[in-house]
Amino acid sequence: MQKYDVAIVGGGIIGLAHAYAAAKRGLKVIVLEQNSRALGASVRNFGLLLPLAQLPGKNYNLAVQSAAIWKEVLREFSIWSKPNGLLVLALNELETTVMQEFEGIATGLGYEGIQYVDKKGLGRYSPRALNLDNLHGALYSNAETTINPPETVAKIAVGLQEKYKVDIRYNCIVKGVNGSVIETNTGTIHAERVVFCTGANWEQFYPELYSGIELKKCKLQMMRLQVPDSNWQLNEAVASGISMLHYSSFQSAPSIGKLKEYYNQNFPELEQYGIHILAVENNKNEILLGDSHEYSNHDFDPGNSAAINHIILNWAEKYLNLSEVKIKETWDGVYVKNMGGEIYSRLKPTDNSRIVNAVGGQGMTISFGLAEETFDNW
Ligand SMILES: Cc1cc2nc3c(=O)[nH]c(=O)nc-3n(C[C@H](O)[C@H](O)[C@H](O)COP(=O)(O)OP(=O)(O)OC[C@H]3O[C@@H](n4cnc5c(N)ncnc54)[C@H](O)[C@@H]3O)c2cc1C
Repeated sequence: MQKYDVAIVGGGIIGLAHAYAAAKRGLKVIVLEQNSRALGASVRNFGLLLPLAQLPGKNYNLAVQSAAIWKEVLREFSIWSKPNGLLVLALNELETTVMQEFEGIATGLGYEGIQYVDKKGLGRYSPRALNLDNLHGALYSNAETTINPPETVAKIAVGLQEKYKVDIRYNCIVKGVNGSVIETNTGTIHAERVVFCTGANWEQFYPELYSGIELKKCKLQMMRLQVPDSNWQLNEAVASGISMLHYSSFQSAPSIGKLKEYYNQNFPELEQYGIHILAVENNKNEILLGDSHEYSNHDFDPGNSAAINHIILNWAEKYLNLSEVKIKETWDGVYVKNMGGEIYSRLKPTDNSRIVNAVGGQGMTISFGLAEETFDNW
């Protein structure tokens, strides 16, 4: 029987971040992933490391701590990233009001690098990509970084194997764990400690521990667009004014209630499908565009709704010049969210095991910070 200090169940970003934190502590680590590579939410997202989405205090601090480790990991494993920040784009005066209110309180709340940009100032950002005629202003945050998720996750896995001698076993389904004995479809593994990072498949292990936590699965629709030529550049990640209704950080802006009312009354389809706009350009001249949010306790219909993709594209065109841009592919992703307000769940089934999941829409952002906490507090 092979012996390890730590076994990680799941090779998504939460599993890999835990493998990194454990390996940095000099522990012998194995990652067990049921597929031939990571195929879950960790390779289906925007790749936006987004501290601005977090409530001030412990959540924002966790995202900032995580961003610092991300920076180190990206450098250590020579992974492409674009630390160009985020522009939240306003389509009307009410949105610019919320943005200016937020700019006024941001520093006091603990956010760094937030600046309101008026319509004239927008010209210095991605002039060809932004639909400048339609935009009223923006909020710029310099804390955000864009990565390319599939490439990044694959390179982290290789870096862990090569530099830290982490064993990563793909096509290895963990069927059960008893103390330090892990039963898989390809044999038994022994590890002193086990961390379950199984993403949306949370029901598999110790479901009874979740009895006091309301979890929901969320399906998001996404698309990949090919930019027309090298002069069409989206230098910063962009979010829509509507996105301010989705990120709890903006709840302290006095006019946020009015903005919610405005969208609910005039564009109920956005609320119905949980649509807001995020777009990032990666290192392959592609725009990742989304998204929608549909919730369920268990599972979802297999198809992606053409109507939802149509609404996403329609709204994206209000912010971006997309007339020459072609759709390359569409897909969906599922994550699990803790509906109780916490941005993750960390459970302790036994003294030698932890479950870390329910990271919702912030899993990429907080992954490395979460993993540090798990091992610091073990
Ligand atoms: C469309 C979309 C956009 C998003 N955008 C962002 C963003 O821009 N920024 C951000 O911070 N977050 C974003 N998120 C959220 C983020 O992607 C997730 O929170 C994060 O990827 C979750 O990581 P994970 O490792 O928990 O899950 P996963 O990536 O799903 O990994 C879990 C892994 O566990 C494996 N597994 C499960 N059971 C077993 C078993 N029994 N044995 C072996 N292996 C097992 C699975 O195969 C899977 O690979 C987005 C999510 C989606 C879906």
